[in-house]
Amino acid sequence: MAKTEKTKAKTDHHAQLLVLGAGPGGYTAAFRAADLGLKATVVDPRATLGGVCLNVGCIPSKALLHVARVIAEGEEVGAHGVRFGAPEIDVDGVRSWKQSVVDKLTEGLAGMAKQRGVEVVQGSARFTSPNTVEVISEEGAKSISFDNAIIAVGSSVAQIPGLPYDDPRLMDSTGALDLADLPGRLLVIGGGIIGLEMATVYDALGSTVTVVELMDQLMPGCDLDLVRPLQKRIAGRYEAIHLSTRVTEVKASKDGLLVTFDGPEAPEPQLYDRILVAVGRRPNGLEVDCAAAGVNVDERGFIAVDARQATNVAHIYAVGDVVGEPMLAHKATHEAKVAAEVIAGHQVIFDPRGIPSVAYTDPEVAWVGLTETKAKAQGIEYEKAVFPWAASGRALAVSRPEGVTKLLVDPTTRRILGAGIVGVSAGELIAEAVHAIEMGAEAGDLALTIHPHPTLSETVGLAAEVAEGTITDIPQPRKR
Ligand code: NAD
Repeated sequence: MAKTEKTKAKTDHHAQLLVLGAGPGGYTAAFRAADLGLKATVVDPRATLGGVCLNVGCIPSKALLHVARVIAEGEEVGAHGVRFGAPEIDVDGVRSWKQSVVDKLTEGLAGMAKQRGVEVVQGSARFTSPNTVEVISEEGAKSISFDNAIIAVGSSVAQIPGLPYDDPRLMDSTGALDLADLPGRLLVIGGGIIGLEMATVYDALGSTVTVVELMDQLMPGCDLDLVRPLQKRIAGRYEAIHLSTRVTEVKASKDGLLVTFDGPEAPEPQLYDRILVAVGRRPNGLEVDCAAAGVNVDERGFIAVDARQATNVAHIYAVGDVVGEPMLAHKATHEAKVAAEVIAGHQVIFDPRGIPSVAYTDPEVAWVGLTETKAKAQGIEYEKAVFPWAASGRALAVSRPEGVTKLLVDPTTRRILGAGIVGVSAGELIAEAVHAIEMGAEAGDLALTIHPHPTLSETVGLAAEVAEGTITDIPQPRKR
């Protein structure tokens, strides 16, 4: 650990470990470090711990998606002999329930920080030297010196230039989660994970939703066979989905937001009540004056780290969205533990075999490890085994047979290289495949694992049986 006796005397505060950012990466790093005996201080501009994920991201969106799922199930069961009336939506009630979930978790984090002796400082930190930061808050500026630092400052929403962002009807994901009202017509710009999750929420609550996506498929990068069942379902519910289409202009007037589109099948200009812009996130590496500490940051704002999460400056580490894709909370927390443990003297590296991605849409889409898109682009050989949920008793019983469970298998070693699932609860089901990949499991291991019947989890075992040629639950087993 670096020694900082000289700087220590001159600053308002000294931290053995200073963590910049209190999101899943930051608070996990501080807590793990504290558990290993280090004195940790965490700095964040928000009044609560948890960063984007807990406050304005993963957690509030899941609370709203739960409401959406209940509404959709209420509608669906109408086809099976049970009819509810149309839902009465009390937006204030939904909003305050969502906030109560967030509050419960952020209060829990505050309690755990206290119990661990982690000091929490509210404000924005910027490096002033390789061993000091300045923290600006409403109360003014103060300086903190540190022996080691972990940069966990996350990412911010990307914007399309030239849109009237001062109009509150033009929202980013935070604004959309605020649920200020229920717009009649909502345009979602960006058919990625955030856009499609929030579209799911607003559609269920009664808005008429249109999605516009620049690329020729929703969730670009995800295998098309996994996106297709989602696209089919939402195409029947939403007003429109425009692919290969760009928004060229948004004009605000008192009647709404007039949007002009461009693309081979672009619609005529349309008036919307609200717009959600969800076109990606950019790392916050340029916001903390890395140069003052000598930490390298690229022009986009990403900070390069080695497998120990160390930057080019030996006593400064970085984790989470700011070190690269995928920008996911569960990647950040694992990187954070590595950084904290390395600082505490452990010999560890971040070396996962797979990091799962999940879109909590309806149906959910989840994947891990190798995708067919990537395998084809990189010339990687694979065998594909697909189990269609139309052959799953449980999927039929919950009236959602559109799902698919797919495994990609190494033809030589038989190891699982990748997995993709689309269907209800795919985000829960993918964990088994993540575990299999992490453990170096072969298709036969999954096929011989006795899954409980009747469950959706069986589809993972059955896809492995397809790979092994032992499947009896669908016609014509493949010969191997
Ligand atoms: P994204 O990159 O997943 O999707 C953005 C989409 O917008 C892309 O499909 C892109 O082609 C499209 N796009 C870009 N410019 C456009 C334009 N001018 N017009 C129309 N479309 C345009 O980004 P996101 O959905 O904003 O999510 C941001 C990040 O947050 C991602 O890294 C994601 O992994 C993460 N996130 C994850 C979860 C989850 O794990 N469930 C949920 C939310 C966000």
